[in-house]
Amino acid sequence: MAKFEGYKDIYVFVEQKNGEIANVGYELISEARKLVASIPHMNFEVVGVLLGEGIADKAQDVIAHGADKVIVVDHPLLKGYSTQFYADALTQVIETYKPDSLLTGATVLGRDLAPRVAARLNAGLTADATKIEMDPEKEDEALLLVTRPTFGGNLFGTIICPDTRPQMATIRPNVFSMDAPDPTRKGEVVMFEPKFQSTQPQVVVKEVIEKVVEGVDITKADILVAAGRGAEDCLDLVKAVAEELGGELAVSRAVVDDGYAEKDIQVGQTGKTVRPSLYIACGISGACQHVAGMEKSDMIIAINRDPQAEIFSIANMGFVGDVKEVLPLLKEEIIKAKAN
Ligand SMILES: Cc1cc2nc3c(=O)[nH]c(=O)nc-3n(C[C@H](O)[C@H](O)[C@H](O)COP(=O)(O)OP(=O)(O)OC[C@H]3O[C@@H](n4cnc5c(N)ncnc54)[C@H](O)[C@@H]3O)c2cc1C
Repeated sequence: MAKFEGYKDIYVFVEQKNGEIANVGYELISEARKLVASIPHMNFEVVGVLLGEGIADKAQDVIAHGADKVIVVDHPLLKGYSTQFYADALTQVIETYKPDSLLTGATVLGRDLAPRVAARLNAGLTADATKIEMDPEKEDEALLLVTRPTFGGNLFGTIICPDTRPQMATIRPNVFSMDAPDPTRKGEVVMFEPKFQSTQPQVVVKEVIEKVVEGVDITKADILVAAGRGAEDCLDLVKAVAEELGGELAVSRAVVDDGYAEKDIQVGQTGKTVRPSLYIACGISGACQHVAGMEKSDMIIAINRDPQAEIFSIANMGFVGDVKEVLPLLKEEIIKAKAN
């Protein structure tokens, strides 16, 4: 008899807000597809779990992005996020269908929901994972090797949950890439009716004040020009280069700690994870906590006056020099190239 009789498939919690699905759900579905493909003999499927109110019509989008099946829990109590009702509903879905693993975005919502559900199920949860693989020696158990930064990001630890199911993990947005959707893809949609422990909310939200975000979300920018401590006294120049390229300004944590920029645009382990097509790192040393947030950029260009700076080891191209000398030249060349 198999060790975990009845447990099957990789489930992905597909987060939505006001009917808009967060990309991280699609990124996790794309990664889950690779994981199931690595254990074809297990016949695992990728299953999306969609919670909310009036969201059933989104199930086809989830299928188009790679899910074989979508479990929809459509209920008025799930209109907005509530730890109580979402945890109730997701726990019941898991108890009913017995997924072998469940992946959730390490978003504000996911970081609240996943540990609550894991505690109720007595399941193991690895938070803030950066890599997920099937253990090649335990393929018949579909054992996941889940890697995450540890000791302040100086080391990576690989965590396994060999004794409980589902194996749970939260993964930050932008860690995995998202496959292009296929609108013709077919899949099964299952409507699930939850039974809430109580319909009385334990917490009543009196007012929601939306955070006013100035500028754009750097996780969505295709080009980022990032300033580190070596460029914090010439942020206007870094920003001007970003604007010439049609990109956005980002910063290292040192710049935020020194009071030159807001945390909203910080890249790295305690900031945002980004994967633009171009990342220009200006006066950034390349500490592992920064690199963890940008190493998956398609093209990395580094400008640093120290030829030994760590950032050069991950850069596709580098300029050794003072940012205040290199950036004006770069800006001039960009303007010339645009004029031609
Ligand atoms: C738990 C934890 C979490 C962290 N999370 C993050 C995170 O999310 N993001 C993050 O960025 N960091 C994070 N850090 C901090 C990280 O360890 C580094 O301290 C930080 O990334 C350094 O920022 P920096 O490279 O801008 O500054 P520095 O390390 O001070 O490097 C400045 C660089 O600029 C170069 N330079 C100086 N002047 C010039 C000039 N005029 N022209 C060209 N080059 C110049 C220098 O040679 C140097 O390489 C974290 C640390 C810990 C412990």
